[in-house]
Amino acid sequence: MSKIHVKTPLVEMDGDEMTRIIWAKIKEILPYLNIDLRSYDLGVTHRDATDDKVTVEAAEAIKEFGVGVKCATITPDQQRIEEYKLKKAWPSPNGTIRSILDGTVFRKPIMVKNITPAVSSWKKPLVIGRHAYGDIYKAVDFLVPGAGKAELVYTPAEGGEPVRILIKEFKGSGVIMGMHNTDASIRSFAKACIACALSEKIDIWFGAKDTISKKYHARFKDLFQEEIDARQADLDAAGIHYRYLLIDDAVAQVMKHEGGILWACMNYDGDVMSDMVASGFGSLGMMTSVLVTPDGKFEYEAAHGTVRRHYYEHLKGNATSTNPVASIFAWSGALRKRGELDKTPEVVAFADALEESVLSCIESGLITKDLMALVSPRPATYQTTDAFLAAVAEKLKARLG
Ligand code: NAP
Ligand code: MG
Repeated sequence: MSKIHVKTPLVEMDGDEMTRIIWAKIKEILPYLNIDLRSYDLGVTHRDATDDKVTVEAAEAIKEFGVGVKCATITPDQQRIEEYKLKKAWPSPNGTIRSILDGTVFRKPIMVKNITPAVSSWKKPLVIGRHAYGDIYKAVDFLVPGAGKAELVYTPAEGGEPVRILIKEFKGSGVIMGMHNTDASIRSFAKACIACALSEKIDIWFGAKDTISKKYHARFKDLFQEEIDARQADLDAAGIHYRYLLIDDAVAQVMKHEGGILWACMNYDGDVMSDMVASGFGSLGMMTSVLVTPDGKFEYEAAHGTVRRHYYEHLKGNATSTNPVASIFAWSGALRKRGELDKTPEVVAFADALEESVLSCIESGLITKDLMALVSPRPATYQTTDAFLAAVAEKLKARLG
């Protein structure tokens, strides 16, 4: 059988622990492709050996080629420094890549017929995007010890009089916080949301509280609208609508909506709502994630981590039943995007076949342990990771003739 040719190189980033084991096995079920993989080993020991330069190189490669696929990686803490004898606590690779690419992370659940979301109206994936810069996450806060005046002071760099705004004339103790965002970051976020919606072909909702926060939240609303206006022709051509809602209205409407939308959230809303949406759809093993840049570069990944507990079982020689689905969908997502950008429909068709193979396994009751409590009807038994991947490989082989 002649192999399917992928025109442009794909950036591939290996990772850690159980997901690293699974990563190698997924690559074994993809022998159908003639593909130039630009591989970067982001496993924690190799990051340590290269003083984390490999992470920066991987991000630069995504910039160059436009599409990447990444395995989950360890963000080291003190325990990991000892466990892996690291030089230091290297920063989160995802954080490094995100800041080099100025990207936004979107999470998308993988839906199957035999798992009903907790919210009965959800029929299509709800994609959620979190603006991961600023607000309370970059705030300074202060315990006010007693009576006194608290003010916001802005001192222009170019000279001129400072601007002072009274926050509160305290009569006793209390708390205050100063937080910020930047126009540049808000615009990048809006651009990434638009790029993601165009890629997924879904409407965009953005919720904030501009009725209360007439400058801060209103700035988000206004800049979002400006970026939408700038891309209106592309959005119209794709049939994509933009809707601004008050955040509480957005929450209420999402619970009655059928899904199939991109929900753009300010930082704190995204932190909270992405966990609500993830748990509403079921398992972490069924949640994908894509980092999208303002200028339309894409990095696909599973939303979960390295599944450490399973890795320790694996090291003891026990077969685990770790769900590889989100990692497989990272590959199919990246390959589909590569095919779309390269205008190679055969590559897109391969990505579709890979996903269909996975879904048909799950829908026929071949599932990993994490899904046992979610699927109905429940099968008599669950599969090990290896048995599940073997079943996917067989279905894929049948599909590709
Ligand atoms: P985790 O890897 O997300 O796993 C937490 C638990 O969720 C697992 O122990 C398992 O529950 C369940 N789970 C997650 N994914 C699963 C899958 N594919 N199949 C079956 N069960 C799954 O989080 P963690 O173990 O707390 O973190 C491990 C490492 O991952 C940390 O070093 C962290 O820094 C890193 N991390 C990386 C990323 C990333 O690279 N994007 C994201 C998050 C965390 P049971 O144990 O109950 O089976
Ligand atoms: Mg959270």
